Amino acid sequence: KTFESIDLYAPLQRALAEQEYVNPTPIQAQSIPAGVAGQDILGCAQTGTGKTAAFALPILDFLGHEKPRAAAKRPTTLVLAPTRELAIQIGDSFRRYGKHMKFHSALVYGGVGQAGQVNSLRRGVDVLIATPGRLIDLMDQGHVDLRDVQIFVLDEADRMLDMGFLPALKKIIAALPEQRQSMFFSATLAPKIRELANSLLFNPVSINV
Ligand code: AMP
Repeated sequence: KTFESIDLYAPLQRALAEQEYVNPTPIQAQSIPAGVAGQDILGCAQTGTGKTAAFALPILDFLGHEKPRAAAKRPTTLVLAPTRELAIQIGDSFRRYGKHMKFHSALVYGGVGQAGQVNSLRRGVDVLIATPGRLIDLMDQGHVDLRDVQIFVLDEADRMLDMGFLPALKKIIAALPEQRQSMFFSATLAPKIRELANSLLFNPVSINV
């Protein structure tokens, strides 16, 4: 199986070819077609398996086919990551895979001033990549509204729970529309994590690598 055999938005195919991505990794081979088809995904995978592209490519494919929207757009896709480092890496991946597309991403994480993040939110956002604590702060201040989110990704769910983010996650999930696509990734699927997955996924495709 090759990337070319997967039906993906042409500007994405071009970026993948330029980066010499030929064969999808096992998690990508399963999650990209399901994700592009709009299905929910429960992925059990460690870092280094290619899981970032497994959710970034379906999101970028969605954005490539999305109708043009008015200015000052609320985010239509949201990726939650446990740490600032991971959020930054995910942002870099979106820029690499989406290099031939026009879209706005915003990164939101703690430990730095809010002003720059608030400004990037004001410009309008297609992909919002965030850590839970800062996202809640910005939601509480009215800088972020999640009502238009159509694709939601929870990355490294096990680490999120270890870090005590469960209350923040519940609050964020409650602010999302019920009608949406969700993709959930975790290195382990202990009972508490499965419970969280079950609470936010609908009839997911399970992927174990
Ligand atoms: P990740 O698990 O998402 O952190 O990805 C691990 C590394 O593998 C990153 O450096 C990616 O750029 C690279 N990578 C992901 N998917 C592929 C692929 N299908 N072919 C070649 N490299 C890849």
